[in-house]
Amino acid sequence: MPHETDSTPASFPERLIDRFDRHVSYVRISVTDRCDFRCVYCMAEEMTFLPRSQVLSLEELALVARAFVELGVTKIRLTGGEPLVRKNVVWLCEQIARLPGLRELVLTTNGSQLERLAAPLAAAGVRRINISLDSLDAERFRRITRTGDIDKVLRGIEAARRAGFERLKLNAVILKNRNHDEVHKLVAYAAEREMDLSFIEEMPLGVIGDHDRAEAYYPSDQIKADLERHYTLIPTTETTGGPSKYFRVAGTAIKVGFISPHSHNFCHLCNRVRVTTEGRLLLCLGQEHSADLRQVLRDHPNDIDRLKHALVAAMAIKPKGHDFRLDQAPIILRHMSVTGG
Ligand code: SAM
Ligand code: SF4
Repeated sequence: MPHETDSTPASFPERLIDRFDRHVSYVRISVTDRCDFRCVYCMAEEMTFLPRSQVLSLEELALVARAFVELGVTKIRLTGGEPLVRKNVVWLCEQIARLPGLRELVLTTNGSQLERLAAPLAAAGVRRINISLDSLDAERFRRITRTGDIDKVLRGIEAARRAGFERLKLNAVILKNRNHDEVHKLVAYAAEREMDLSFIEEMPLGVIGDHDRAEAYYPSDQIKADLERHYTLIPTTETTGGPSKYFRVAGTAIKVGFISPHSHNFCHLCNRVRVTTEGRLLLCLGQEHSADLRQVLRDHPNDIDRLKHALVAAMAIKPKGHDFRLDQAPIILRHMSVTGG
């Protein structure tokens, strides 16, 4: 795409629309590929992380966020890896939260740093937080996360509750024979604290070497059936524009969601793109179509118009959808921690 010279004012669309008439209004940005946990479904035990020079700087990340918001994006989620292990992440939150036009800055975390960071994040303008919690049992939690300390995470959740976020949500990846029998306990924990809870089916992203993903697969419909032995689930049409199907839990103030990339295709509703830690714009979680934003950023530092051109051009390669197959070797070799879950 030609780039206007400085003498020609650049003109940009107000919104990012792809070939299938989907409006991209939501961006998930991975601020680091590093993490203090090694969850069995997400990472291998031994991970090689990216050299720092390949990772976008906080200033570059802030510019990417601004470019998106100037093109009509209204929601940004910071994720990772573990976003809260990135130094000065609160500064980045402040920069993004104040962008005119952005409705929501949200964040996904494993909770390990929340005891220290919940209040500064709320003050910086983060509106909502999703916290991953796969088990309430210390030993199991340790086995699933390999390094995680459940007490620290639970203290982090309490700190987040005190910090005054609009809403807190829990995420739990459910694996057969690891935590599938705990789903009702997780709902009870969430209901007591008035936090919504989403159950996630494991996705085949990256080689993890821990377990056979097909054997560990525990479908959302099964989780729902298990929960219905303890709770009444009332279907709701409420949606966050994402792949979750929501149900109200009768007698509580919460909703449970089911994220099932295998069992329910949600691609036609897709309103999102992702930016990896290295500045790769990923047009689909389950495909490799991407654009190299880091190259644009490093060839033309601080040139937001160049960046916006690259974002607009990338809409032409957002694929129609994906098809995860558990009976095949992973076709997507990047880990969720690089992609930004
Ligand atoms: N470290 C943070 C956390 O764990 O919440 C943020 C990044 S993590 C990659 C984001 C979400 O992706 C978490 O809820 C995690 O459980 C989920 N996740 C990671 N690997 C996954 C996989 N292979 N399939 C499904 N969900 C996965
Ligand atoms: Fe880290 Fe989150 Fe991946 Fe677990 S799911 S290893 S906490 S990035």
